[in-house]
Formats: sequence, structure tokens, C-alpha cells
Amino acid sequence: MSKRAKNEKREMRWRGVAVSEGMAAGRVLRIHTGGRQNIYRTMLEADDIKREVRRFQAAVRLSRRQLMAIKRRAEDALGAEHAYIFDAQLLMLEDRKLLEEVEGYIRQECANAEWSVKVASDKLLAVYAEITDDYLRERSSDIEDVTRRLLVALSGEAQSRHLTEDAILVAEELLPSAAAELDFSHVRAIASDAGGWTSHTAIIARGLGIPAIVGLRELYRHARTGDEIMIDAEQGEVVLHPADETVEHFKEARKLLPSSAGANGSDNGREPLLTTDGVEIILCANVELPAEYESVRRYGARGIGLFRSEFLFSQRGGVPTEDEQCAAYTEVAALAGADGAKVRLFDLGGDKHHAGEDFESERNPALGLRAIRFSFRHEEMLRTQVRALLRAAARGRLDVVLPMISDVAEVRRARRIIEEERARLQTQGQETGELKVGAMIEVPAAVLMADKLAGEVDFFSLGTNDLVQYLLAVDRGNDEVAEWFRTLHPAVLQSIERTIKAAADRGIPAIVCGEMAATPAYALVLVGLGARVLSMTASAMPRVRRTLARVDALSASEIAAECSQCATADGAEEIVRVQLGKRWPHLFSPENLPTPKREE
Ligand code: PEP
Ligand code: MG
Repeated sequence: MSKRAKNEKREMRWRGVAVSEGMAAGRVLRIHTGGRQNIYRTMLEADDIKREVRRFQAAVRLSRRQLMAIKRRAEDALGAEHAYIFDAQLLMLEDRKLLEEVEGYIRQECANAEWSVKVASDKLLAVYAEITDDYLRERSSDIEDVTRRLLVALSGEAQSRHLTEDAILVAEELLPSAAAELDFSHVRAIASDAGGWTSHTAIIARGLGIPAIVGLRELYRHARTGDEIMIDAEQGEVVLHPADETVEHFKEARKLLPSSAGANGSDNGREPLLTTDGVEIILCANVELPAEYESVRRYGARGIGLFRSEFLFSQRGGVPTEDEQCAAYTEVAALAGADGAKVRLFDLGGDKHHAGEDFESERNPALGLRAIRFSFRHEEMLRTQVRALLRAAARGRLDVVLPMISDVAEVRRARRIIEEERARLQTQGQETGELKVGAMIEVPAAVLMADKLAGEVDFFSLGTNDLVQYLLAVDRGNDEVAEWFRTLHPAVLQSIERTIKAAADRGIPAIVCGEMAATPAYALVLVGLGARVLSMTASAMPRVRRTLARVDALSASEIAAECSQCATADGAEEIVRVQLGKRWPHLFSPENLPTPKREE
């Protein structure tokens, strides 16, 4: 830890990808996402050793308290027979020999606690790797889990959620599990090392209408909670420990920004949205966090097109109980009103949620036990969620969305579970409501099978974020490959068109709910491809509404048809730039048209 005085800290600058506009200045609040951090060895002065041992002991106590709370919740949600898995981890935290080994290492080697924990756990893992018994060998994941938990506890960040007025979140990547715990009323901006336009950091920031920059490699490592920091998402720049002149310059630049009300428009958009040739487009809201509810009301969303329920998980609390979920879904249904809310089943796994430290991490998470697969594997958790939804549906209009569907059989299995849980609730005398079932179309297989899937569900939700990721084989959260994330790639456009057509042929609605819908130029292309319902972060609605009300659907379909027949993504992007700039120069100045090889 640095002992330098504030005025000795050198100004440091980073450039990244701005994913939510605006400028903000404040103090760093580091948010730990677990698992990815690098552990460094630092040499301690003799005077610091006792304090370091006490810091380690405090981390052990905190980790124990967290695990006991998770175990209790797991007992409620999964039953006692599944909660025993946490016993092994609790026992490790009580293992005197192990704890003494870490403390001994701190004392003898004058090493910091993080390093000492890592050394002890690596040693233990090496022993387990030699074991031939499969069951025992697999316990090594418990060691990894406990190690990760201890390291988070040592980072101190688990306790520092009490936000001051001017917090700027700095994370390697802001995951839903961490976001769910924060009080966003005091967050001014977000800056993260990893991420792209469709990463969760970006989605959360745009949802809250606060500036965000991603792809800032190594910022997290250099920043400390409490450091002074400035975020300029107009320039894609972050300044840590800004010098006085930089602060002055920043203040001047901020005065020139349009106010956010001006930027987003103030119309609340309650009237129907029609294109100039009379085609009605419905705009609904994507919602993740309660902090966004206010803007859902303000911007007059026609219901909630996507509620990302995995945000109900919190990093420390684990699985939300049936009653907690029922209360949350009832609130979301009330917010959505007569238009209703589409609640997606937990989309856990992948980059979505490391599911805290409760579940194992995978080698290739985007292709692993994610979304519906994760729910089927943890069937009690799925059944709990379904019961909560059925009960809440008796009090308001709710639909359920199945994420990452790749086969009709998954829809049938989910429907079976829904009906079994309905029957169970009814025999208990509990009231249940109607629950329409939709499928997320975000995997190439689902696009190819769209006609069959349309016969089995009540609606489609087109998740363009994942559709681009899986179709183009490009990790949506990895800034290294951001230039391959091409929303206008002809393969993406053809897939969207095919899906919308399959839905229309069966007479079911198709809602486009990826980030694509929130960018006016792309929204226009979507309308051209046949989309009539777009769901987006509420703060983007005025912008999209203003654009779509001034264009005609016929021209949009001509442009979309031309783009989807292109041989390259470059070609399609060029057509959009030229055609939109030519037909609607007052709406699409060069600055607000998508630039090539950028994923906005
Ligand atoms: C998508 O994939 O486009 C989507 C809407 O869901 P998420 O971003 O949560 O994966
Ligand atoms: Mg998705």
C-alpha cells in the first residue's frame, strides 16, 4: 500500500473505449470481481508483521460469516442435502494447521497476507493433484474457492460498499453480482479494465445514464479506493491523481457538455411512435437494477421488454429466496403496468455472473454451463424461480424468457417444469397467474431452428449482444477483439431477418432487446429488417424515438436489404453511413453515425 502523500502522487492517464457518454470527477471505489486478480509479493517491515497477521485473521472471520450466510440461503433454496457442499469450505477456514501455515509464512518470510494465502493454497492444491481418488481430487475446487474468498476479503472491498457522494467505480469488470450490491444513487461513473460496448459494465452505465469507459488495461491495479479520478467519456480518457491544471481544464470542458436532459430530450413519449409512413414501433425498457425504475417511468416505456433477473443475485448473499424473488417480480410487474414485464430466467455463468464464489469457474464459460443450461443443472434453483414468477404473475402481467435456447427440447423441458410447479402451488392453495413463455434467440442454432421454435413459444426475444458474439465467435467482453464485434455484419442482419420472419409467419411477437436497438442508426436498420418492438435501456428511448419518428419504414427496409446482401461488414457499414447521411442529413451527422470497426 502506498504511503506517499496525496501531493506526491503523479498524474496518470489511460485511454479506453467510451461506452456511455458524459464526464465525471470523484473518488475511486474499487470493486472486486474475484478470480482475476494478480497477487504480488510485498516485503513487510518488522513493525507491520503483527498487523498483517491480524488482517489475515479478520479476513478469515469475514469469510466464515459470508459462507455461513450463503449456506443458510442454499439450505432455503436448494434444500439441506445440497448445502453440505459449503461445510467443506467452512472446515478449511477452521483448519488450524492451514491457518498457522499462512500466519507462519507471513512471520517468517515477512510476506503480505495475500501472497502467503496463495503460497499455502498452491501447496495444498499440489497435494490434491496427486490424489488418485476422483472425489477427493475434485475437492481442490473448494480450496480454490476459499482462496478466492479470502483474497476478496483481504482486498477490503467487500466492506466498502458505503458509497460517498462522488464515487467512481473502478473494476476489472463490473459483474452483475457486484453491481447488485451497490447503492447506485451515489455512483458518478464507471471505469473498467475489460469490456466492450455490450459488456455488463456498459449496459449498467447506460441504464443509469452515467459515463463509462471500458478497456482501460491496468487501471484497476493502479487505482486505490479514495484516489482522485476524472472520467471523460467524450474523449475516452481517464485521469488518476489529476494535477491542478487538469482539474481546471476538465471543469471548463464539462461546462460545454449539453445537459443530460437536453441530450436525451424531455418528452416522455407516451404517444404511439409511428414512422413517417405510419408503421407503429413499440419501445420497451430493459431493466437490471432498481436504480433504473425511475427512468422507466420518466421515458414512458411500453412495458419492460427484458428484466435481467440475475441481477437479483448479490455477491455475498447468493441465491435470492422464493419470497425475495416474488416480491421483486411483483414490483417489476407493477412498474410495467398493463403492458407487462418479460422476466428472463437467471442468465448465470459465462461473463454474466461468476455466481459469486458459490459455483465453479469454467475453462470456456461463454460456451459452458450458462443460462438455461445452468438452470437445468441447478434444478431446485430453477423451480424456486419459476414458483416465484407464477405467484407474482397472479398480481401483475408477467412473461418468462428462456435464455440461450439452442434446441426445442429445452423449451419443452422448461414448460414441463413450469406446469409442474404450477400444479404444486395450486395443491398448496397458492394463487398463480398466466405466464407466457418466450425464447431468447441468441445462438446460431436458434436462428436456424427459428421456425420450429416459433411453434413452441409465445414470443421471441432477440438478444443481439450474444447473437453477434456467438455468430461471429467474438467474446463480447474482450476489448482485444472489439474490432471483430461487427453489429452490421451481413450474417447478423440475415439472422435477425430470418428470426423476425419466422415469428411473423407463426403470428408471435419478436422483441429485439440487445444493445443494437439503443443506437438510432441500428434501430433504423432493425425496423428495416422487420422489427416492430424494440427494448432498450430507458435513457436511450428519447433518442431512438426522435429518430424513428422522422424516418420511413420503406426506406429503412431498402437500406437493410442492401446491407444484408453485402459481402462484408465494411460494406454494410458503408451503406448505412452513406444512405443515412444522404437521406436524413438532419438526423445523421457524421458524428452520430457508427464508425467503422467500432462496436457502437
Ligand atoms: C443479448 O444477449 O443481446 C441480451 C439482450 O442479453 P444479455 O446482454 O443480458 O446477454
Ligand atoms: Mg444474452
